Amino acid sequence: MSKSNKDVTLNPFEIALKQLDEAADLINLESGMRDVLANPKRVLTVSLPIKMDNGKIQVFTGFRSQHNDARGPFKGGIRYHPQVTIEEVKALSMWMTWKCAIADIPYGGGKGGIICNPKEMSEIELERLTRRYAYSIADIIGPRTDIPAPDVYTGGKEMAWIMDTYSALKGNFGQPEIITGKPLAIGGSLGRTEATGRGLTFTVREAAKKLAVDLKQATVAIQGFGNAGQYAGQLLEDHGAKIVAVSDSRAAILNKNGLNLEGLRNHKEKNGSVAGFPEAKAISGEEIIETECTILIPAALENQITQKNASRISAKIVAEAANGPTTPEADEILFKNKILLIPDILANGGGVTVSYFEWLQNLRREYWTESDVNERLDKNISKAFADVYNAHEKHGVNMRKASTLLAIEKVAEATRIRGLWP
Ligand code: NAD
Repeated sequence: MSKSNKDVTLNPFEIALKQLDEAADLINLESGMRDVLANPKRVLTVSLPIKMDNGKIQVFTGFRSQHNDARGPFKGGIRYHPQVTIEEVKALSMWMTWKCAIADIPYGGGKGGIICNPKEMSEIELERLTRRYAYSIADIIGPRTDIPAPDVYTGGKEMAWIMDTYSALKGNFGQPEIITGKPLAIGGSLGRTEATGRGLTFTVREAAKKLAVDLKQATVAIQGFGNAGQYAGQLLEDHGAKIVAVSDSRAAILNKNGLNLEGLRNHKEKNGSVAGFPEAKAISGEEIIETECTILIPAALENQITQKNASRISAKIVAEAANGPTTPEADEILFKNKILLIPDILANGGGVTVSYFEWLQNLRREYWTESDVNERLDKNISKAFADVYNAHEKHGVNMRKASTLLAIEKVAEATRIRGLWP
């Protein structure tokens, strides 16, 4: 592939390795340690035969990648999507390791996924698939070893089925600490649903201070109107910003005067998409990235900001709610154009931070108020932002390299101190 007009690779694991290498170069990390960090500790592939509603058996494939646990148990979501691949899951597990290190929470990185299209499955088929997956990975997860959570197209419902299946397998006593992102009724945390969007909003607030951007005058475009995108939009609106463009998997819409988010959420709930929202103009899915705005939030999937469109981005701040939405080539373009990119492993760390709070509450069987959760989150994420911003200035590198190098330093130090055994 030519480097001039195409990104060198769109394979998420190769991208993750490239990011690791570039950051490792900056801190002269020894080659043996690079190899340790480049390889997930364990990657499990499971075959999941399910009886479908039509009586036929269909076999799905699932994965769980456990990247590194030097700083604590593996932690990371479970994704249901037709395009899940083992490479994607491995990359996401590595990014989780860095994310937990930057947020300074005592976890390593893991990630799971099932190749499936949940939109084309009935509720009972989804339940059978989820329980079969939980059963198939039960031996390698655990409240002190690997604690899953939601990701794309999974949520509280799936987490509840996994908790129930795991608890039943292990002697049928309820173990809420096996998984986070649960409904409140079974040990979920207040503030968890909004946590990713809230954490992202805190990082945008801090970035706006650095760039002297007034959030009350700011406009926002959001790609992906799911959990992360919706709450980020709502909380930025609370700070006075105007949401001008939104997209989901089916449509993209624009209103330069600002979209009524509450109305949009109701519309999406009723119609399953943002498509056809009154008082907004339809635009193409590609246009959303290039929308004229102050803050761009990719909140869908990987490889959305590439060498093809990065130079046409007009935003001052790009805040990555999604994991891996920007390719390394696009990173360079944004950096050259003085656009401040808040990388995924910092910007969306609010989700795993409140997952950690949920786990702590579960272990103690003691529950916190929502304002406790939000205040602790603010403190945590603001400190992480300051650390990364300082490293970005000190080393003269973009925010992704700065955050990756900080994370690598922490994980490498933990690995060195623990030593290798056997
Ligand atoms: P979700 O399933 O709630 O929402 C995903 C949204 O993206 C949906 O609105 C969907 O329609 C949209 N989408 C899918 N393909 C699209 C496309 N091609 N163009 C535009 N929109 C598209 O998922 P989520 O939990 O909000 O996750 C979104 C991203 O945020 C993922 O990358 C995920 O890994 C990341 N993330 C989520 C959390 C969390 O706590 N939910 C935490 C950290 C990171």
